[in-house]
Amino acid sequence: MKCVICNGNDIKVKTVDEQIALGDDIILTRLTLPVCSQCGERYYDRKTIQLIEQIRVKGKQKLLDVEDVGKILRVREHNPSASHTL
Ligand SMILES: [Zn+2]
Repeated sequence: MKCVICNGNDIKVKTVDEQIALGDDIILTRLTLPVCSQCGERYYDRKTIQLIEQIRVKGKQKLLDVEDVGKILRVREHNPSASHTL
């Protein structure tokens, strides 16, 4: 199997934390799927896509058993005119 993105042939099955966006929240779920070692492209089969979809649906209905793992922080957009002059 060759990577469709970078044409590399080093695709290995790995366990990764997939990020599923749910409104302002991000749900992490551990998935085992083929990942390109060169560019990081993940290859989802039908089953994995269904699993992600299920998690999204359950997440919306608050039916997931989840735990806090940390915070997601966003860099505040700073005003360019207030930044240091060149
Ligand atoms: Zn690749």
